[in-house]
Amino acid sequence: MAHDADTIERPASTQRDVADAAFLRNLPAPEPSMGSAAYAAQRERALAFDPRRRANYEKYLRARADRKIVDYLPIKLDVENVSRCNFRCTMCQVSDWHKGQRAGDMPLESFKALLDQQYGLIEIKLQGMGEPLMQGDAYLAMLRHAREREIWVRTTTNASLLHLRENYRRLIDADPNEVQISIDGADEATFESIRRGSVFSRVIANCKLINAYSREIGVDRTNMWVVVQQSNRHQLPDFVELAAEAGGPGLRAPQADRVHGARALHRFGRHSDRRLDLTEAVGTRERAHRRDVGELLRCGSARRHPVRRVARDDLAR
Ligand code: SF4
Repeated sequence: MAHDADTIERPASTQRDVADAAFLRNLPAPEPSMGSAAYAAQRERALAFDPRRRANYEKYLRARADRKIVDYLPIKLDVENVSRCNFRCTMCQVSDWHKGQRAGDMPLESFKALLDQQYGLIEIKLQGMGEPLMQGDAYLAMLRHAREREIWVRTTTNASLLHLRENYRRLIDADPNEVQISIDGADEATFESIRRGSVFSRVIANCKLINAYSREIGVDRTNMWVVVQQSNRHQLPDFVELAAEAGGPGLRAPQADRVHGARALHRFGRHSDRRLDLTEAVGTRERAHRRDVGELLRCGSARRHPVRRVARDDLAR
């Protein structure tokens, strides 16, 4: 017997998923932490830096348009300079590695050779699975080396080592475009139970150090990142307060990373006085994906307004 699609009653969960998908689709696109204009200006400087990079980028744009030939070098790359960590977070594969390490550190010379070889890069994320600051000077030299080549650089840290050797200052002085600081609990008990091996008070003190220095020299680089999961989702509004405490009065609202799909949280970012939106948005995502771990919530810090983030592919157009 043939079915008329319009008369088939969808399961309630499917109807809800469709509505959730439409809701997410209609949200405005986020922007990068320093703003789309800053990203575009940096991309122009990157393309002007090396004619081969510009030629490669044009190939990339053509390939995106015709979707047939992929004849360009990567324009973006994640580089894992360190494959070890001083934390053992519950949701992280590092915790399963023997002694929390799966490979030796990447030598600085290898990093430089990689960038020479990959002349098409306009953006890198310098961090993979591990705490990049454990590498010390070589990591900071990598940041500087990439920035001297006009590459947009993102990096992530657990903030546990920022107080040592004035790393908070040396990290900002190395000029990364974005520093993501992972904060997965809004209080000591939650934070330390998820980020095993951590000391909550030390991390927050270090956030204050790096944000105070950033304000002092007039740069805006840091963001708080939260992996939303069952054990911390009830704290979502508290992250806003924590980020304000860690980042100063410039902080306003948490934001979601579109790349990881929690765009609904943008609504909260644009109406930071409506906290209920945040909870509703997270509920939406939970229904859509039926999972507890994996959403990234992002709190801007050291800035006066909520900022948004653009999917990397959108930025590359
Ligand atoms: S700090 Fe980051 S890399 Fe280290 S264990 Fe936690 S999630 Fe993994």
